[in-house]
Amino acid sequence: MKEKILVANSSMPEFEEYMEEIKPLWNSHWLTNMGVIHQKLEKQLTDYLDVEHISLFSNGHMALELAIQAFNLSGEVITTPFTFASTTHAIVRNGLMPVFCDINKEDFTIDTNKIESLITDKTTAIIPVHVYGNICNIKEIERIAKKYDLKVIYDAAHAFGIQYNGRGIGSYGDASMFSFHATKVFNTIEGGAISFGDNQLEGKLYRLKNFGIRDEVTVDGVGANAKMNEFQAAMGVCNLRHVEEEIEKRKQVVNRYRDRLQNVKGLYLTMDQENVRSNYAYFPVVFDETVFGATRNEVCDRLKENNIFARKYFYPLTNTFECFNGEYNVEETPIALHISKRVLTLPLFADLTLDNVDRICDIVLSLQKI
Ligand SMILES: *Cc1c(COP(=O)(O)O)cnc(C)c1O
Repeated sequence: MKEKILVANSSMPEFEEYMEEIKPLWNSHWLTNMGVIHQKLEKQLTDYLDVEHISLFSNGHMALELAIQAFNLSGEVITTPFTFASTTHAIVRNGLMPVFCDINKEDFTIDTNKIESLITDKTTAIIPVHVYGNICNIKEIERIAKKYDLKVIYDAAHAFGIQYNGRGIGSYGDASMFSFHATKVFNTIEGGAISFGDNQLEGKLYRLKNFGIRDEVTVDGVGANAKMNEFQAAMGVCNLRHVEEEIEKRKQVVNRYRDRLQNVKGLYLTMDQENVRSNYAYFPVVFDETVFGATRNEVCDRLKENNIFARKYFYPLTNTFECFNGEYNVEETPIALHISKRVLTLPLFADLTLDNVDRICDIVLSLQKI
């Protein structure tokens, strides 16, 4: 059997580099609660992501959940179902009603032509997703948010390091959530952050991730425990030194995939967007069975037989999850439904060799009926 290839493979620094970074902890015994490595990473990420403020968290999901809480939202929030469970769960766990807007079929982000018809007097925010690192139609979202006085919190879990019009992607909207999970472009093992512009949010987020504690005798927020610890932060400090190199290697992989797959009939690939510095986070392919001759599931199974594990991101849609007991009508997001049944995310990580990309493409193309 050939070498096993997973959809992602965590970036890691050299063992010695990490050891060097965590060594001081054996003197300080300060392992968590916003220690010196945490502070260092927060500063470095504010610069790297080109944003005004950053608040670090134990993971991306808690970052999003607590950011929503920090804005004191109520009623309905417009979002998309073509995403990871986290986006929808963060809304529902805040006691808010997700209102699902369809996606566009070009880059799979929220269809801004369909947002306004979903706005009611209960709507308080839009939570769009820069899915696969494809950035949303920010200009339109800004226009709508301003017109109806809505908050905008981006799920930027896939968008680490992306620049749009020469600015960090996290500088748009009221806040953005980044995920530093092991499988993402940049990782702190588990981890995440909120970027934001409003000074007042800084203290709020700081307290919410630490039980809502204001000082020794005052607890004035119903917070959670979502602090990033020093070992996570140290992993981040190390990985950040190499992230540019990692993105460059990802780009080579993506270019090879595109060379092999972009003119194949029945396959749809997303391309680089205008004025965007991409991070090459994911490589989704949409299979049109009627033209290509094989379904997404057939391709996925064939890859699996060859020890290659692609993922059906994002299938199923979050508005069809069992936990919601049929509360949402999937017919209202037909394009998301169409894409989710046909999309397959191929393996992509910095150290994926071009030979292995070729092997994956050969298997995919062997299913083409001509
Ligand atoms: C990974 C991810 C999250 C959650 O991030 P974690 O760090 O794993 O908690 C949220 N939204 C999307 C779209 C993601 O891919």
